[in-house]
Amino acid sequence: MDKQFLQDELLLGQLLDLVKKFTIGFRADDERPAGSALRKVPSFSLPDLGDGAQDAMKVFGEQWQDYFVASPSNRYLGYVTGGTTPAALVGDWLTTALDQNPQAVKGFGDVSAAVELATIGLLRDLFGLPTFFNGGFVTGATMSTFTCLGVARQWVGAKQGYDVAKDGLQQPIPILTATPHSSAVKCLSMLGIGSRNIVKVATLPGSEAMDINDLETKITELNGDPFIIIASSGTVNTVDFDDLLAIARLRDEHGCWVHVDAAFGGFAALSPEHAHLIAGWEMADSVTVDNHKWLNVPYDSACWFIREEHLPLQIATFQNSSAPYLGDPAADFNYLNVGPENSRRLRALPAWFSLHAYGRSGYEDIVTRCIKTAFLLGSALSEDPAFELLAEVKLNVVAFTLTDAAPERINALVQRLNDRGRYFLSPTTLFGRRGLRAAFVNWQCETSQVEEIVSELHLALKELPFAPAAAPT
Ligand SMILES: *Cc1c(COP(=O)(O)O)cnc(C)c1O
Repeated sequence: MDKQFLQDELLLGQLLDLVKKFTIGFRADDERPAGSALRKVPSFSLPDLGDGAQDAMKVFGEQWQDYFVASPSNRYLGYVTGGTTPAALVGDWLTTALDQNPQAVKGFGDVSAAVELATIGLLRDLFGLPTFFNGGFVTGATMSTFTCLGVARQWVGAKQGYDVAKDGLQQPIPILTATPHSSAVKCLSMLGIGSRNIVKVATLPGSEAMDINDLETKITELNGDPFIIIASSGTVNTVDFDDLLAIARLRDEHGCWVHVDAAFGGFAALSPEHAHLIAGWEMADSVTVDNHKWLNVPYDSACWFIREEHLPLQIATFQNSSAPYLGDPAADFNYLNVGPENSRRLRALPAWFSLHAYGRSGYEDIVTRCIKTAFLLGSALSEDPAFELLAEVKLNVVAFTLTDAAPERINALVQRLNDRGRYFLSPTTLFGRRGLRAAFVNWQCETSQVEEIVSELHLALKELPFAPAAAPT
């Protein structure tokens, strides 16, 4: 064995001390830019002889470490980006140390699969989802939706009298949806359903939520063909929620597969004032929830929840059937047979740690604090003559723009703000207007940040190279 391996294993304590020191410093670093800092990508060639992990750490320190943005901090408000709670970080380190491959509880007696199932139980409790939902961990909401729509595809095939997993798609599958997340559209393409098979449902005026009357019309036009509804429980721009109770009623009438994308909106269930937004989600056939957003566990982590009654369809879709030593998929639950991945990491452990460490009240605190901060920022911006909200704040995202400004000026503001580095916000286009978004899902989010965010916006605005467009006369 190369002596470097042995030497590093002997030095492991010192190496981990270095990492520990860096980790604590990184998390506490209030100066680290939240906006992009990498100016030039360093180039490396593969060494013939390595010099061990300490040297790798040294070069990492010289060449890479300063350029990582503070994306786990509460100053990163772009997209929908969570942080990492202390307990989640501990769980994630242990995940790597343990290096397990969670599959089945029975048979090989795999404790890591038991951890995953137990963590799914904790999440069901947190969200108030019934125990008839099975669940599992995947890398992100995209792969969760992929898993869910994979089973939905099998369900439609069964209704049409064939087996999609075996025969491939034989007929188009209509997908009824109003404002799907871009990743859901990507899933349709990955699954061979095809994004052109989306039947676009109209939205309510000034909203991204489904017009239920139009949904009903679109269903009638299908003349009894089986179909899938992709409902949004929290669109990323306006955080509008499709009316799940109305969708449930239509589902009972017409029979269809209902998938609910609750990537971050599912956490509305933890706020007594906002839980009504997600009311009815337990009627869904499948649900997507992202963990690396509002659960504040590190990338990459999300869950699928699919009704137990659909398990045979799920196994038909994902079973890894050709390996006889893996047992009978129907008799022995095995993650290998119910999701897109075979080997996988113990992704549930960070979530288990964080849920155990902070419990229901800890997560209610994160969610309500984030919502409160978003509403405060929303009212500060609407009272500020320089800014205008693009949509009423409904939960945890503030979409806004400059009053009377051309799109170029808004792009320049986003760039300037992010170059300043204190806060990162992402650009957006909403109802045909260019704007900015601030999304609050970080466990360290504080209402006291609002003042600083508004002042950063004004500082960035002052630094813009060209004058505001003349107000329309
Ligand atoms: C973030 C998000 C996704 C995609 O999540 P990934 O974790 O990036 O795969 C899907 N749907 C919604 C509503 C989201 O907010």
